[in-house]
Amino acid sequence: MADKRDIKGLYRDELAELCAPAYRADQILQWVYEKQADSFATMTNLPAPVRERLAADFELNAVQSVHTRHATDTTEKFLFQLRDHALIETVLIPATPGLTSQSDRHTVCVSTQVGCAYGCKFCASGLAGVRRNLTAAEIVDQVLHVQKLTNEQVSNLVVMGMGEPLANYDNLLRALRILNAPWALGIGARKITVSTVGLAPRIRQLADEPMQLRLAVSLHGATDAVRNQIMPVNKKHPLAELLEACDYYVNTRHRMLTFEYLLIEDVNDMLEQAHKLAAIARRLHAKVNLIPYNLVDGLAWKRPDRDRCKMFQHTLKTAGITATLRTEKGTDIAAACGQLRLQHTRATQDSTSYL
Ligand code: SAH
Repeated sequence: MADKRDIKGLYRDELAELCAPAYRADQILQWVYEKQADSFATMTNLPAPVRERLAADFELNAVQSVHTRHATDTTEKFLFQLRDHALIETVLIPATPGLTSQSDRHTVCVSTQVGCAYGCKFCASGLAGVRRNLTAAEIVDQVLHVQKLTNEQVSNLVVMGMGEPLANYDNLLRALRILNAPWALGIGARKITVSTVGLAPRIRQLADEPMQLRLAVSLHGATDAVRNQIMPVNKKHPLAELLEACDYYVNTRHRMLTFEYLLIEDVNDMLEQAHKLAAIARRLHAKVNLIPYNLVDGLAWKRPDRDRCKMFQHTLKTAGITATLRTEKGTDIAAACGQLRLQHTRATQDSTSYL
């Protein structure tokens, strides 16, 4: 039997071509996105033979919920299993300070790859390298499952979960076009933020897309020396190349971008870095989102104390830069960056070793 196609990875016109007459496609899409049907069998306004054919030809669910954790601050974290049993994380965040102006109550953070190839030294997601790209359906379905599990309408999206989104460019863009489409979830492009480790050529490609997405760049160091120490990608795309791509993005789009800047004790939290960061942000008219480092089990990096983080922020502000300092959300549920998956995998590995 030929592999079934994931229905949530298809555009409306593709589905219409596969399911004549065309109005059928709209009926099906309504069941998938509006009513969030669990199975083709429940799509009761479709004739039985159509439902049977759909079930034979298509997969409805690309992800399955394995585990949910609630934090005291209302952040919720979801561990999803894919059909090949790979695990990914998705987070529902009550607000995204620094990324959007309004208080967005329902921001979902999606993953784009199983693991990550970029191996940032501080990050839990890349510890075991990358296994594969997520399909468009697997990206779309994370949002749908969060909506369904929480009964909340998702208004904003940040592509900051596991993986490097711009390394899975085609599937990412397909998924975002679907999530943005009025026949699917209708999430506004300006409410979607893509975060990248700094893949300069892909930033240029994104700048040329018609979709008005927001861009966040994980800078984490204001000099090559600091970036090289913690982000191996900087050897391939050094700061000068990255910033030129950012320049191109800003000038093509006429949109502000955000620099994310992790604060790691004695690595990048020196005031000399703050001054250099201010110069970069000024040149690009960028905002800076400061993120105090979240400890990762097994890694030695530390978070600077609050005063030091505030001082770093103050230095940027004094230089005229808009800089937010993220208040931690969800640290009690390992909300950051690959940690729930890490814990789950370690726990299951431990339990199998007892067998
Ligand atoms: N690959 C993309 C998106 C995924 S990571 C990127 O690099 O931007 C999302 C953000 O979380 C990045 O800024 C990343 O550097 C940051 N991050 C990774 N590990 C972290 C940790 N332990 N604490 C806080 N932020 C972390």
